[in-house]
Amino acid sequence: MTPQIRQLQVIGNELAIVWSDDRETYFSLEALRKACPCAVCNGEPDVMGRGDKPQVRYTPASFQLSSYEMVGGYGWQPTWADGHSTGIYSVNYLRRLDTGDA
Ligand SMILES: [Zn+2]
Repeated sequence: MTPQIRQLQVIGNELAIVWSDDRETYFSLEALRKACPCAVCNGEPDVMGRGDKPQVRYTPASFQLSSYEMVGGYGWQPTWADGHSTGIYSVNYLRRLDTGDA
């Protein structure tokens, strides 16, 4: 069973998560942005299932949060300072990013 997020907080340039199993995780915002799961950042695969990873251009604002919200118990949706806000990081995805078996 996937642990739930008990507490989520942005501290400086890190996102701190306290999980329901008492684990604490600190993600750098830059690493999170680069792991953005949305279609724009990952490219839509073609009919053959191949997808070229697009070149995403980052600016310093790309790694700053302007706001975020929790989406219906499903995930974390950040709005980055460069206006990008289509990525929803599911609880499972965040946990896998943390434990390294993404
Ligand atoms: Zn994205």
